[in-house]
Amino acid sequence: MVVVMQERASEDQIQHVIATLVEREFDVHRSTGALKTVLGAVGGNRDFDTGLIEVMDGVQQVLRITEPYKLASRTFRPTPTVVSLGAFRIGGDEVIVMAGPCSAETEEQVEEAAATVARSGAKMLRGGAFKPRSSPYSFQGLGEEGLRMLRAACDRHRLELVTEVMDVGQIELVGRYADMLQVGARNMQNYSLLRELGRSRTPILLKRGISATIEEWLLSSEYVLAGGNTDVVLCERGIRTFEPYTRNTLDISAIPVIHKLSHLPVVVDPSHGTGLRDKVAPMARAAVAAGADGLLIEVHPDPDRARSDGAQSMFPEQFERLMAELRIIAPAIGRSICVEPAARRAAVSHA
Ligand code: PEP
Ligand code: MN
Repeated sequence: MVVVMQERASEDQIQHVIATLVEREFDVHRSTGALKTVLGAVGGNRDFDTGLIEVMDGVQQVLRITEPYKLASRTFRPTPTVVSLGAFRIGGDEVIVMAGPCSAETEEQVEEAAATVARSGAKMLRGGAFKPRSSPYSFQGLGEEGLRMLRAACDRHRLELVTEVMDVGQIELVGRYADMLQVGARNMQNYSLLRELGRSRTPILLKRGISATIEEWLLSSEYVLAGGNTDVVLCERGIRTFEPYTRNTLDISAIPVIHKLSHLPVVVDPSHGTGLRDKVAPMARAAVAAGADGLLIEVHPDPDRARSDGAQSMFPEQFERLMAELRIIAPAIGRSICVEPAARRAAVSHA
């Protein structure tokens, strides 16, 4: 349930409500807004009489959250969550682009990719060092060496880094290098990983599972939120359907569906969503037009020689052209995208 406190509720009244809920075995998540405090109470007894809280001093309203996910729901938080990363925010007016290779492969490859990303005005470098591959014989990533390359390139180009963490034992290591931790599609239902990430204070990029419904995806985000990490960004990356002409079927409709059900930002990955380079730009344009809060795109200096996901990785020129197109589309729906690339370029060259 959600307990909305009155604007003039005192701290004592708020504490009294919290204590009452805790006594009834609820976990209480407090959110203090500019005007009002809202308490999200999860767990507890299903038959609990909300009237007991309604009559308490300082309480304005008690709402039952009927969705199975609670903290992720719009009922709990009617205003959008905005996740701050470095000097920008995901979930605000600006559409944030995260781009880079599928995997970190060599120092030169990471540097060239990062230079392209920074030049285009994108804000974040993506790249995997721990790779979840369908075959155990495929390239599995460079591990810590890859993380080091990615971090160094980000520092040179003033980019933030998003990279995947595959299991609980890697959280500490990956967290030392990354600004945002990616949970891959195959791990969307790795509940022990999600629980542990709830204890972290690093923002999480939670990909949609390969065959997950939107409700299952939101329930996975709930594991992280329930642990106290409120910086969760969802990533639609396509789901498996009967259609063989694309690697996955990118669910563009997930964007408005999520925005209605949840306050969490949603970004779109048209690279894994289609699996084919020539389909990435049209789907990226569609995602921005449909209201995505960001994009995750694979770009590689030499995609034909990529050690993973070459067929869906864009050439640098293609990616830069796409960014120019997105700068035309975003304002049409009242958003900006990757402002001030020139200003950043100047800052880097004078560093
Ligand atoms: C990736 O981003 O390279 C990746 C492996 O993504 P997903 O988990 O969506 O397949
Ligand atoms: Mn990939």
